[in-house]
Amino acid sequence: MFPKSLRIYGHDYKVQRQKYPKLYAPNGDVTHVLGFFSGNEQLIAIRSDLNKRPAQEANILLHEVMHGIGYHTNIFVDIPDKEERIVDTFSNGLTMVLRDNPELVDYLKDSCKA
Ligand SMILES: [Zn+2]
Repeated sequence: MFPKSLRIYGHDYKVQRQKYPKLYAPNGDVTHVLGFFSGNEQLIAIRSDLNKRPAQEANILLHEVMHGIGYHTNIFVDIPDKEERIVDTFSNGLTMVLRDNPELVDYLKDSCKA
């Protein structure tokens, strides 16, 4: 089930599907994206038509969660130009590992119960 909210480093983020998520650059440029993470708004937005492609939607959601982890740990502060590549690498890799190892998903689910 698509989550309505996610807790990342103790902060609750609203997760919502949007028809055309938009990213606003500091210079005012607008880019249409598949998803975005906003620490200021405590929001993760995912493009709504991705619900027809669940694996891609999950991948984009993981991608945005990793931006959230980076945001709360400041890990990308010194390497902002590498953030997108690092987030992409790990979210794509994790999506593949989870897809190819369903028993790992079960194990993680059982092991990480609060
Ligand atoms: Zn990104």
